[in-house]
Formats: sequence, structure tokens, C-alpha cells
Amino acid sequence: MANINNLKDDLLAGRRRALAKAITLVESSRADHQTEAQELLADILPHTGKSVRLGFTGTPGVGKSTFIEGFGLYLIAQGLKVAVLAVDPSSMRTGGSILGDKTRMELLSKEQNAFIRPSPSGGTLGGVARRTREAMLLCEAAGYDVVLIETVGVGQSEIAVADMVDMFLLMLSPGGGDELQGIKRGIMELADLVIVNKADGDLKKAATRAAGDYKSALHLMRPKFTCWTAEVLLASALKGEGFEPIWQKIQAFETAMKDSGELERLRATQSRAWMWSEIHDQLKDIFQAGQCAPHNPGPGCGPKSMIN
Ligand code: GDP
Repeated sequence: MANINNLKDDLLAGRRRALAKAITLVESSRADHQTEAQELLADILPHTGKSVRLGFTGTPGVGKSTFIEGFGLYLIAQGLKVAVLAVDPSSMRTGGSILGDKTRMELLSKEQNAFIRPSPSGGTLGGVARRTREAMLLCEAAGYDVVLIETVGVGQSEIAVADMVDMFLLMLSPGGGDELQGIKRGIMELADLVIVNKADGDLKKAATRAAGDYKSALHLMRPKFTCWTAEVLLASALKGEGFEPIWQKIQAFETAMKDSGELERLRATQSRAWMWSEIHDQLKDIFQAGQCAPHNPGPGCGPKSMIN
């Protein structure tokens, strides 16, 4: 396993190429790669946990990539290292992708202190989410201060992402009350911070009004944490406005969560859920491969059809 040791050293030294390679290893479905990936993950685990873990969602066109690019550059200017990962349900079924095309975030991707990785394609949402969680741990070990996991406002991917991050950000457009009808209540309930984007030019008034609507809607929801009340902020990703107050809120959230002990509890719960789904998946693989009793397959050790 000399290779894994080298990879680990390069990863801990913050080399981007090693990080990309490690994520590829984690995403691989080959059995020997999976064994190496698990060894690497076990080795780097003591070096994880230090970054701010953010989830980010919004419907296509709301301005997510414009925002992440601008916000990422803002954070880098503050001396931070930023990683952007994605969970894109469209890439799982079709191989096509709403989020992952290479032309997005061109400026950010050129930065030495940025790392951008599109969604792993193929597999189930559960599998992709777990690989993304592992990629997040690798980013932490490589010294990224902020890991932002992006997803599209469709399907169940928001829940999967919310289950692996500290703070969940929902980006909305200035549609206000009308738009609220179209937003799944469940997504609103996941939000720790709502950002109303496109608060510029002709849309500024509408954005301010919409922020009021969203605030009232949030008041009706049950708070996720006792130490934090979800808030609504305005931004213009296009003009680069609103980044500082948003970053301040994120930091205030992390402080409140740490001081109250809720961050530790949240991460412990997430780790347990991750471990159980790993165990579940590995058992399923063993059953499907018929490896549990190769010479005398008993009940429950049979083909795929028996457990699906
Ligand atoms: P995504 O699909 O959520 O990633 O959205 P994009 O970042 O690709 O943006 C969709 C469109 O909205 C593009 O034409 C952007 O230029 C525009 N856009 C993004 N942010 C803003 C903003 O703050 N103000 C305005 N007026 N337009 C924006």
C-alpha cells in the first residue's frame, strides 16, 4: 500500500492533484479501489472536521453558479481555501447534468486555492451522496476551510446534502409569494439561511418584498436547532453584493452551533448514519455477489432478485 501512503502524504500537504486522485479512488466501484479508498479514508479521518460544511440549493437559473463563483473568490480573498462539490440527480439517471458542465465557474476554477468537482455520475442518490460525503472529508484533510456542496432544487438531493453539512443555504429569486407556492415546504424547512438573489436593478424592489414574504414563511416553520433561527438575506451575485453579510451569518451560525454543542451532536449523528448506510451497502454487495457462502448458498444468499 505504498501508493496509498504517498497519496495520503500528498493529500495532507494540500496538493490538488492528489485530492482529485483520491476522490476518483473513492468514486471507483472496483473492489480493489474500494479497499484502498477505505484505507485512505481511515488514515485521513483524524485530519478531518475542521472546515465549514455548507449545503447550497436553488432551482436552475436562480444564480447558483454565479453566486458560488463570486462568493468563492470573496472567500479566497479573505485568505481561505474553498472546495465546491456537487450532487446532481440529473447526472445519475441520464449521465447528462444540470450542474456539472465544465464552463461553469471559470474564474474560480483558475484559482490556486479553489477546488471544484462535479457530481459523480451514475449510481443511486444514496451512493452518490455517500461518495460526496467522503470527497468532503478528503477536501478537509487537504486543508480546505470551506466545503460547499451544491445541488439542484429537484428530487430528494437536498435532503441528502442537508444530511452531510453543518448549514444549509437556500437560494431564491425575487418571485416572492408567487414563488413560494412552487417551493416544496420541505426544502424551506431545511434552510438555515435563505438568500434572495438578483437584488439589483429593476428587481431590487421585488427582491426586498420577497425577502419579507420568505421571512414570514420561515416564522411558521419549526426551527431545526434551538440555537439558531433561519434568516433571509439579499444578494446580487452578478454585482458581487451581499457576500460579506452572508459570510458573517455563516460564521455566526458556526459559532452558535459550536458553543451550544449542537455542531458536535449534529456531526456525530451524521457520522452514525453514514456508517450504517456503508454497512448496509457492503452487506448488500456481498449478498448480490453471492459471496456469503460460495459452496452452499443458503436462504438469503441468493441472486439479486431475492433482496431487491
Ligand atoms: P444556476 O442555474 O442557478 O447556476 O444560475 P446561473 O448562475 O447560471 O444564472 C442564471 C442566469 O441568471 C444567468 O443569466 C446569470 O447571469 C443571471 N444571474 C445570476 N445572478 C444574478 C444576479 O444577481 N442578478 C441578475 N440580475 N442576474 C443574475
